[in-house]
Amino acid sequence: MKEYDVVVVGSGPGGATVAREMALKGRKVLLAERGGRWNWLGNTISVAMILQNFGLTVSKPLLPMTQVTIADNYGGASTLICGCAMPPPKKVFDEVGIDLTAEAEEAGKDLWVGKLPDELVGQANLRLMEAANDLGYHWDKVDKFIDADKCIPDCSDCMMGCSRGAKWSARFYGDEAMANGAELALHTRIDDIIVEQGKAVGVKGSCLGKPVSFHAKRVVLSSGIGNTGMLRRAGIQEAGRTFAVDFLQFVGGISPHLNTSRVQPMAVGTLEHYESDGFVVLPVFPTWSQLTVLLAMKGLQHLPKARNAFRYTGLMVKIQDDLKGEIHPDSRFFPFSKEPSHDDKLKLAKGGEIMKKVLRKVGASDDSIVELNPSGAHPSATCRIGDVVDTRLETAIANLYCCDASVVPKALGLPVVWTVVALGKRLAKHLESTFQ
Ligand SMILES: Cc1cc2nc3c(=O)[nH]c(=O)nc-3n(C[C@H](O)[C@H](O)[C@H](O)COP(=O)(O)OP(=O)(O)OC[C@H]3O[C@@H](n4cnc5c(N)ncnc54)[C@H](O)[C@@H]3O)c2cc1C
Repeated sequence: MKEYDVVVVGSGPGGATVAREMALKGRKVLLAERGGRWNWLGNTISVAMILQNFGLTVSKPLLPMTQVTIADNYGGASTLICGCAMPPPKKVFDEVGIDLTAEAEEAGKDLWVGKLPDELVGQANLRLMEAANDLGYHWDKVDKFIDADKCIPDCSDCMMGCSRGAKWSARFYGDEAMANGAELALHTRIDDIIVEQGKAVGVKGSCLGKPVSFHAKRVVLSSGIGNTGMLRRAGIQEAGRTFAVDFLQFVGGISPHLNTSRVQPMAVGTLEHYESDGFVVLPVFPTWSQLTVLLAMKGLQHLPKARNAFRYTGLMVKIQDDLKGEIHPDSRFFPFSKEPSHDDKLKLAKGGEIMKKVLRKVGASDDSIVELNPSGAHPSATCRIGDVVDTRLETAIANLYCCDASVVPKALGLPVVWTVVALGKRLAKHLESTFQ
């Protein structure tokens, strides 16, 4: 059996960062990913192909239905991000005594973080920003993980994978890890940790139906909510007993002057309500196909509104939701239960009122305004620091670590990638120190 210094399970931003950093340090690394390298993005069907259950992973019980987007491909959910870059929230990590300043700064340089010029931000975003500021809010351009030299105006394809390579995704780190000697095992689903005398010594699972196992001196789980099943089977029963999804809600309206169907998602917006109320407001709206599904989930009587998919001006509120719900690792189609708490609903409603004011200001009539049901794009906090892992991200089983959105101590209520990459860089420094 092959022996590695580090086996990393899951190639999203958390896993790809650890793999890249350890490969750069000369360690023998295996990156195991259950999905494939699906390159043909750019349309709805191919995007669905890289998501668990084609993007239709929903809660148990079915009503009220909560949909959460879960990746199933090389690069994880980062292939579909809007490219919105927000640094690790200090208030969340201060509470557990972790300072990510140095790693966040390092990550910011790698991830092409910067604000876009007006022509790439787009007129619709600029007009929304002006309208919000006229109403007394404090909107500004938002940092993005975008290479402005490769990006083009009037394009909203970040969430469709960006075929131009203008948007950073974890694949850049994964590929760099391989260029520095790491091995990538695609279509390799890890199910169990191999534990000997209280220490993790490897992992086992299957590759295209055939059993596989890999021995390693250190094991890092970066498979998001996938970590829960492996940890519980290894005896860590606390994993996934509650979690967060950063509930988001879209509100769209039809303005005679603009629409957001072909502009950079989340290129402007505001964080002014984050410290006090735990939410952010950013312009972004589902693609026509996502909109159709979300309208159907709201109620079949709303489906005809899908014909206006390219006319909507859309905004989103994203909240720090309460830790609530549970992961069900043995259920493929209903792998969690989760619904917004009372406080979550209040936050969403407060953000919703702000969004409606902005939409009215740009000319949207009340009868054109549609509010979609809350959904989640950031499954997180299943293996929280202080609960399932310690501040070094190590579990109760020696040499077994978690590093991805699962370790955040509570809902971030913000885009996650920058935080997870910073955590990956921090863990890599610790892992290297254990080899000295
Ligand atoms: C539509 C959308 C837009 C977003 N936009 C932004 C944005 O603009 N900015 C931002 O910062 N964040 C954004 N996010 C959030 C961000 O993409 C995720 O929070 C981030 O990718 C989480 O990284 P991760 O490493 O925790 O896990 P993931 O990206 O979820 O990766 C986990 C990986 O593990 C693999 N895996 C799972 N189980 C197993 C197993 N048993 N064996 C092997 N492999 C396994 C999966 O296939 C996946 O590749 C967005 C998310 C979505 C869905």
